[in-house]
Amino acid sequence: MRVLICGGGVIGASIACFMSARGVETTVIERTGVANAASGKSGGFLALDWCDGSPVEALARRSFALHAELADKIDDDWGYRRLDTLDVVASARRDVGIYRRLDSPGWLDGDTAVRARLGTTESTAQVDPAAFTKGMMRAAIANGAQLVMGNVTGLAFAGPGTAVRGVVVDDEEVEGDAVVVAMGPWSVLACRWLPLPAVYGLKGHSLVFRYVPPVRPHALFVELESETGAVASPEVIPRPDGTTYVCGLSSEAPLPVDPGQVAPDDGGCEKLHAMTARFAPELGGSEVLAAQACYRPVAQDGLPLIGPISGVDGAFVATGHGVWGMLNGPATGEAVTELIVDGAARTVNLAPFDPSRLAPLEATAVRAEA
Ligand SMILES: Cc1cc2nc3c(=O)[nH]c(=O)nc-3n(C[C@H](O)[C@H](O)[C@H](O)COP(=O)(O)OP(=O)(O)OC[C@H]3O[C@@H](n4cnc5c(N)ncnc54)[C@H](O)[C@@H]3O)c2cc1C
Repeated sequence: MRVLICGGGVIGASIACFMSARGVETTVIERTGVANAASGKSGGFLALDWCDGSPVEALARRSFALHAELADKIDDDWGYRRLDTLDVVASARRDVGIYRRLDSPGWLDGDTAVRARLGTTESTAQVDPAAFTKGMMRAAIANGAQLVMGNVTGLAFAGPGTAVRGVVVDDEEVEGDAVVVAMGPWSVLACRWLPLPAVYGLKGHSLVFRYVPPVRPHALFVELESETGAVASPEVIPRPDGTTYVCGLSSEAPLPVDPGQVAPDDGGCEKLHAMTARFAPELGGSEVLAAQACYRPVAQDGLPLIGPISGVDGAFVATGHGVWGMLNGPATGEAVTELIVDGAARTVNLAPFDPSRLAPLEATAVRAEA
């Protein structure tokens, strides 16, 4: 069997890693570069139990465990480590001293208070997202998988609407027995070829600073209130490679058809930089190594779309992971492999993520030009 995976983000690379480990002939087709989109620009923050009580609970818990296993088993380095996580509050118009219940990490502004511990080294962890995604792809290639650079522009069918026979890459057909659409928010392009629900892109900005916190690193989830009462929620994640990542500032900007055209909104990164300097002046004053933006893939009901596409044999989708794609990549890779190779997922129940729960998007609703 030959499996074609469209998209070389964390979801495509994770599926390729698990698929190729089962000895399946696997090809990933990627338009711009492995981890060039959200999977290379995200926080890489992982949590064991933050999805508890939601339909994503089992997927997240399995994936948190798999992250530890993969870091242990695969001879590569993507900066996996456990860390504590704090809930921090800073306000330009309120005295936050009332919240000062826990010790501050020591590198925050004096008017910043630590309100609660959100996670410990038992329940929260991190990876460098680009290094992890590329590491998954390298592991897949070591197992015999192929990476093809190209633009997926269509699917090839055995007969009218019956079964997939492959994908069209830059006008040439690549043959396969199964096709997985894992193009993040660009999976919406496949609504032109398959009865697939809509996938949206939710934009976020981020900065990478050359900065090492002077004390043990903590991930910080910050509530930052301005003089006017507007509240922002930047997230801060120090990394073992001597950098510190800050993200926040969502935007309504539409998804460009070409992933290579994603860029920050005018002033978006500058605003995030100014916010950072308010609650962590030393961090905000350090050198900026990257100022970037990316899009989270989101389905209409906020849950991932993982499973077969009804009515089209051999067609599958794995996307819509929203804010938890880095966390849920490994368990998605494992479950999709079981689904395609064994006929059903064993490790995680994929029923809540069945794409047929949502109506397909009309093919004509998607812009045709790429
Ligand atoms: C600011 C920000 C911070 C985040 N922080 C975290 C976090 O801390 N923890 C966490 O778990 N998640 C986080 N996320 C979410 C996570 O990054 C995403 O859910 C995840 O990266 C999605 O992965 P993906 O593989 O589905 O999509 P993507 O990473 O978007 O990959 C899709 C790939 O498909 C390719 N592609 C597109 N069109 C085509 C085509 N026609 N042909 C071939 N290839 C194509 C693209 O080039 C791209 O490489 C964050 C997201 C953002 C935006």
